[in-house]
Amino acid sequence: MKILVLNCGSSTLKFELIETGGPSSSIGEHRKLARGIVERIGNTASLRFEPASSPKKEESTLVRDHGEAVGKVIEWLKSYPELRTFDAVGHRVVHGGDQFTSSVLIDERVINTLDSLCDIAPLHNPTSVSGIRAARTLLGGAIPMVAAFDTSFHRTIPDQASTYAIPHELSLKHHIRRYGFHGLAHQYAALRYSELTGTPRERVNVVTIHLGNGCSACAIRDGRSVDTSMGFTPLEGLVMGTRSGDLDPALVSYLAKEERVDVAEVEIWLNKRSGLLGISGFSNDMRELIAAYEANPRARLAVEVFCYRARKYLGAYLAVLGAAEAVIFSGGIGENSPLVRQKICENMEWCGLQLDAPANAATLGKDGRISAPDSKLNAFVIRSDEELIIARETALLVGTGGHHV
Ligand code: AMP
Repeated sequence: MKILVLNCGSSTLKFELIETGGPSSSIGEHRKLARGIVERIGNTASLRFEPASSPKKEESTLVRDHGEAVGKVIEWLKSYPELRTFDAVGHRVVHGGDQFTSSVLIDERVINTLDSLCDIAPLHNPTSVSGIRAARTLLGGAIPMVAAFDTSFHRTIPDQASTYAIPHELSLKHHIRRYGFHGLAHQYAALRYSELTGTPRERVNVVTIHLGNGCSACAIRDGRSVDTSMGFTPLEGLVMGTRSGDLDPALVSYLAKEERVDVAEVEIWLNKRSGLLGISGFSNDMRELIAAYEANPRARLAVEVFCYRARKYLGAYLAVLGAAEAVIFSGGIGENSPLVRQKICENMEWCGLQLDAPANAATLGKDGRISAPDSKLNAFVIRSDEELIIARETALLVGTGGHHV
């Protein structure tokens, strides 16, 4: 079955055309037929299309919104005879709220419910909803579409880990809980780990640490998420490119008062001006911070705070799981930075974790084990592939007729 996967970010649209080997097939049985990205939507955008069997194409043109970006992708796919037909479309949606606990077939009712969720995910869901609407308009209602959520993998988190210690009536009234995000990435890491090591999926006990522009950690017991660092929104937890992660909640009103701004403004600072960018004062890109690590004390501090926070979560989740077998790194930083991985894992021999320095240095942008042969707790790098999970979920629902909420 051929699935078009659409992944709308705040100003980007990534897509992949994937031939799935069926819902229970292994990762290796999927074939990527094409991929691409539209960047800087809302402006003069750059578009890159990479078919697996033809030369790649790049162009630069005005793309006003995500709807137009989806139009560009479909127009381009139609220009290749071997790519012009597909069986279904899978959309990545960040927030499924209380309503969506697993992937769903999309109909008008689902779109309206997603619209209502834009209130609790104002930064993320509106772009997905406009991508869904555009795809339905351009492709017609006949082609089945599925929404796969970043929150659904975390629906197995028990109450003790998902409940905030605030007045419980308020939690119930406003649907406040730890939803968790990056679920597609954590789910993929667990699946790939099970295939790499021959561990049955329902016996995977690992800590996954996804370090990209957004960062989160997840404790996975018996193949299911039991805790994760992002919470009610994707702001909580690890230090990220521009997001603060955990902080004292009293800082929000304190900064609003001292800087004479409203709390909404402070929330924007915490989302867009904090994290690696906020501490270093010049970059949210880990490559630039590592390059400046020796010469620039603030770059060094940013890297140290970033790694320390991740290490703290690793320790916490090892305690949560009790019997973890492995730590898995993914995301642009996790896949490509031996220094960050080493700082997070150093001096953890006491709990059975010992990295293999040459393997750690050599594992860049590819899957592999980076722990020493006799390390009791293993460490792996796994290249993230959220699109593959979306394609599998889509094939599963379309193949079985799916279920509507
Ligand atoms: P992602 O969101 O997963 O695409 O990750 C993007 C981030 O990965 C970028 O902001 C960079 O900070 C980081 N990154 C990419 N390549 C490297 C590298 N070689 N070393 C360190 N960080 C990297």
